[in-house]
Amino acid sequence: MKNIARTVGFQKGERNVFFHILTACNLSCRHCYINKAQHGTATLAEETIHKWIALFADPDKKTNLIFLGGEPTLHPDLPSAIRKAKELGFFVTVDSNGYLFNDLLEKTTPEFLDYLSFSLDGPDADTNDPIRGAGVFEVCTANIARAVEKGFRVSVIYTVSRKNLDALVRMVPLLESLKVEKFFIQVLGLRGNSVLTESEETTRVSRDQWLETVPEVARLAAGKGIHVTYPKVFLDRGEQFECAGNVAENFFIFPNGRVYQCPLCEDHPVNAYRIENDRLIKNEGLMEESFFRLNIAEGCVMNKLLQADNIEYDDQGQPRYRISCCLLKQEIF
Ligand code: SF4
Ligand code: SF4
Repeated sequence: MKNIARTVGFQKGERNVFFHILTACNLSCRHCYINKAQHGTATLAEETIHKWIALFADPDKKTNLIFLGGEPTLHPDLPSAIRKAKELGFFVTVDSNGYLFNDLLEKTTPEFLDYLSFSLDGPDADTNDPIRGAGVFEVCTANIARAVEKGFRVSVIYTVSRKNLDALVRMVPLLESLKVEKFFIQVLGLRGNSVLTESEETTRVSRDQWLETVPEVARLAAGKGIHVTYPKVFLDRGEQFECAGNVAENFFIFPNGRVYQCPLCEDHPVNAYRIENDRLIKNEGLMEESFFRLNIAEGCVMNKLLQADNIEYDDQGQPRYRISCCLLKQEIF
């Protein structure tokens, strides 16, 4: 059967809530985007997590709630947070580095947890471990196998950098053998460590490298029955640019109460909302939405401000292509 590839537009009424319930982690990935100076070091109390989840519940809209950290399974109350989110009608995902602390697989079930997502940045220890840490590949793949065995639906996230682009194609047989249902290929965001350190692991691939490799690997994986999603990054000629901040509902919540609408803004105190005394409050002044409204030839304003080196210009000084919203996805299945 021929694979179907499509750009997934921002869907009316769809909401995504990315909830960082703590920032602590057992790993020190080279490209980690967590910025404790901006996001705090708190571990939210169980009761607080429940109250904050309820702030985003909307029975009229399909809302995805993704628990993240740091490493969210370090939080002993994650299973109760998952149950609460499910009770409130969310589609629930946990993004883990693979360690699955606190016996997560024994303390929750696929009835409450819709997807368990694992981060892997290589198809073998030689590629993955220099980026994510010694021994991580073995632990992560063993836990993927255990999760599948227990009936959880499993996805894998692979963050592409110059270091691991060539190895991406070898993920296909690995994912197939592990019975992974969904594969998210992610572009390295220039946030956190990726801004602070210079190395192949923290360097984005060029437009040509991305386009030569990623769509083809996505097609191969889809041919094996895996549902693949990857960011659009570079808009084709004639494709419409839209900023998710204007047309979609995304909330990135941090334990210090900051709530962003755009992940590229997360290193800066421009969060559109904050949670104070368990209430969601809109921030006034020059906040992230002020950028969403700017209309520039290069597409995404935050990309132009923070990572302009991925834009190319012609002799007239016009951009050769526009950069899409980092939240715009291509899907192939
Ligand atoms: S697992 Fe996630 S939070 Fe932990 S160091 Fe790696 S990127 Fe950062
Ligand atoms: S990544 Fe760019 S286009 Fe997307 S929400 Fe942020 S500012 Fe808007």
